[in-house]
Amino acid sequence: MASHFIFDAHLDLSMNALEWNRDLRKSIKEIREREKGMTDKPDRGKGVVNFEELRKGNVAIVVATQIARYVSPDNSLPGWHSPEQAWAQTQGQRAWYREMEEAGELTAITDLNSLEKHLKNWNSDSSPTKSIGYILSLEGADSMVTVSYLEKAYQYGLRALGPAHYGPGRYAMGTDATGGLRPKGKELLKEMERLNIILDATHLCDDSFWEALNNFNGYVWASHHNCRSLVDHNRQLSDDMIKELINRGAVIGGVLDAWMMVPNWIRGKSLPGEMNCSLEKLIDHYDHICQIAGNANHIGIGSDLDGAYGKEQSPYDLETIADLQNIATLLTRRGYTEADIEKVMHGNWLRFLRKAWA
Ligand SMILES: [Zn+2]
Repeated sequence: MASHFIFDAHLDLSMNALEWNRDLRKSIKEIREREKGMTDKPDRGKGVVNFEELRKGNVAIVVATQIARYVSPDNSLPGWHSPEQAWAQTQGQRAWYREMEEAGELTAITDLNSLEKHLKNWNSDSSPTKSIGYILSLEGADSMVTVSYLEKAYQYGLRALGPAHYGPGRYAMGTDATGGLRPKGKELLKEMERLNIILDATHLCDDSFWEALNNFNGYVWASHHNCRSLVDHNRQLSDDMIKELINRGAVIGGVLDAWMMVPNWIRGKSLPGEMNCSLEKLIDHYDHICQIAGNANHIGIGSDLDGAYGKEQSPYDLETIADLQNIATLLTRRGYTEADIEKVMHGNWLRFLRKAWA
């Protein structure tokens, strides 16, 4: 069976390059070795994502983030003390993506034309160093100093936006927080609608999720999100949220952060082996969404495999992101048809974008 190319809807590549100081052009072995003895991040020496492994895994397209939080004095989460600093941080991240384009490692995908052109190139090029397509997304909108910044961001290629990340945001409330949209939140959604920027529902707390969806008429996806009925946490999607996303034509990206895959994980303590967290646990989340939908049209991959964790918090049978290919085998074993497997590996995300960008 020929390997399906993969569309991964959530990676924080630039954050890893700049805040983790990882040169993603180096081999995984080199990146890990250079981090030996470092203790500033929980995943030092355990990274699973670089360009070589993405290519080995036949990952043709990734949705790649800019990410920078603003924190008020009473907020203990890590973040910047002003929106302007957060904006500047995201502009540094953007500069890295541009440098990787210059270096031939990445290709920006911003419209149907560049999407189809990239797919053609990817599938006809057998070079081990071929360029990986990326769609720019913003995880948390705090860095939009004012709503007017969104148009600037659109012009340099921003195509998807999750209004909040963890905690209280400037436009909406995120994971572990409560409450609806902030005063400027609706204005942000209107501007997203005007610019045709995809609303990423991932990380919105329940109140903000429902208010955002009720106030937004554009395209919605959930880039990296698992099911609350399997692993109970506010970060996860309830069945009602899944139903609403399906009604809106969304695709939901299955995430491989172990604590969202298996119940009772204690972050910083539990280990994938002892928790029996294998790649196959993802298929349970997929099955759950497919049962609600009555089809396999709303699931995809949103691995998040470089989201401030590595091997210590990933499925035990995953060594690098190249192992995403094993999802196809696991789906076959569960009885998914070849046509449905293709949808999960890339087809659903592509269908979504072809419609949203038509
Ligand atoms: Zn995230």
